[in-house]
Amino acid sequence: MGINIAIDGPAGAGKSTIAKLVASKKGYIYVDTGAMYRGLAIHFLDKGIRAEETEKIIEACQSAKVTIRYEDGVQQVYLNGRNITSRLRDEEVGNMASKSSPVPEVRAKLLELQQGLAREQDVIMDGRDIGTCVLPDADVKVYLTASVETRAKRRFDELTEKGIPCDLKEIEKDIAERDERDMTRETAPLKQAEDAVLIDSSHMTADEVAAAVTALIP
Ligand code: C5P
Repeated sequence: MGINIAIDGPAGAGKSTIAKLVASKKGYIYVDTGAMYRGLAIHFLDKGIRAEETEKIIEACQSAKVTIRYEDGVQQVYLNGRNITSRLRDEEVGNMASKSSPVPEVRAKLLELQQGLAREQDVIMDGRDIGTCVLPDADVKVYLTASVETRAKRRFDELTEKGIPCDLKEIEKDIAERDERDMTRETAPLKQAEDAVLIDSSHMTADEVAAAVTALIP
């Protein structure tokens, strides 16, 4: 078994930015588990399933095969053999992922894939339940957070930079709702593992956070 680093935290805390920085510094594979939930969400959306239709979501899980490949070190997500990476960040996909991820069958479907990747190589894996459920024996666990306002402002700046019109208050509301769903679900809720190190990135640069995480690695 390789080195396993777990980074959990709420939406927009900067997990993927930090995980990518640490992965390239240490030569680890970065595993983005949110992208896997997004991959399944695309399957549900393409079947015309709505987020409330839990029975249909459970049934559709059986016809979905999510696989991960690394091309030039970048994670690519395949759904039933098709590369769907370019659709992962769509707003409706994020929404469906957030609403379907509480379904236990959805989580069970991805657990094995995540644990298998960590068994085979050195990984830094980010998500909501990595330190608590997916990799309970990880070598280092980090719970990365930031205030709702900071996270919303980061998202606002990111979208504005891409020329996408958006409203700061709407983004704040959306982030608060996602936090609520992730933290209160019954299966694998978002919470800090007992042995995780808490890092609040509200007043830190990405390089400072990456240095703090790297310093924890034995
Ligand atoms: O991190 P990202 O926004 O890409 O994740 C999409 C959704 O997948 C989240 O809103 C969350 O509900 C879910 N998720 C999860 N457990 C993980 C990773 C993501 O429930 N380990």
